[in-house]
Amino acid sequence: MIPPFPYISRTAIGPILLAVLLILMVWLHVPSAPAQIISPPAIRALSTPPPLSGEPIADNALDIISADGLFPANEKDALATDLRHALAYVSQRFGSGPTGRITASLDMESGCGIHGLAYTTERTVQVYTCPDLPRVRAVNILAHEFVHQLAQDRYGNQHLQADLILLEGVATWGAGDYWLSGQPNFAAFVRSWVAAGNTLPLASSYVGRPVGDMNTLYYEWGSFVEFLIKVYGRERFDALYVSGDSEPGSADYQGIYGKPLDQLEAEWKSWVITQ
Ligand SMILES: [Zn+2]
Repeated sequence: MIPPFPYISRTAIGPILLAVLLILMVWLHVPSAPAQIISPPAIRALSTPPPLSGEPIADNALDIISADGLFPANEKDALATDLRHALAYVSQRFGSGPTGRITASLDMESGCGIHGLAYTTERTVQVYTCPDLPRVRAVNILAHEFVHQLAQDRYGNQHLQADLILLEGVATWGAGDYWLSGQPNFAAFVRSWVAAGNTLPLASSYVGRPVGDMNTLYYEWGSFVEFLIKVYGRERFDALYVSGDSEPGSADYQGIYGKPLDQLEAEWKSWVITQ
């Protein structure tokens, strides 16, 4: 009979366990690159681009790199038009545009697990998608990633230590119609969850949670950012954004608004219901 595991002598077990423990500790303590910001994939496709008021951004603000075979050759121009439109839209909505060229990279994800990243210090935003998914799905994701770049450009490197609630909340809110699936605003999007008591606490990490929870948190955070800006104004929001230390809930809510996050969270829920 073949034993299920190779024979390991009793004296070797201690050092092996220690080595495994050390590897685990190193692995767990490698900090994630602060410039990598992930988006959940569960947004629905937008059928028509959202309206734009004002001047479109300069054509040379965006470099687009698309993997071979991802889109048919005759869609490349439409992709470029869509992405320029998305960048112009989110710049207007966010309230400030890019301070330099941005590279949008569209890469192949053979399993079709669409997701996005923003390397804001490198001015590169990225989406992984596949030929089976319509290009609007990739554009929706990149609209959110563009806002991460705009946040870096507006707030500087303090953006990289922003409270996760605000970091992902502002990118979700800033993507606006690209993430709203036809709803007029984020309050409308989350209202039924809030009314039914199906929300997660704002100060939650999505690490280790299922993608559905990650999606819920992103929309809650988008709605919370919408609430803070509409009710308390952009100036205080900007001050809050640069006061955090990465962890969800780490921004100086008490110092900026004179009340803790718990109280603001309760106010946000009431506001969402009564909008
Ligand atoms: Zn993001």
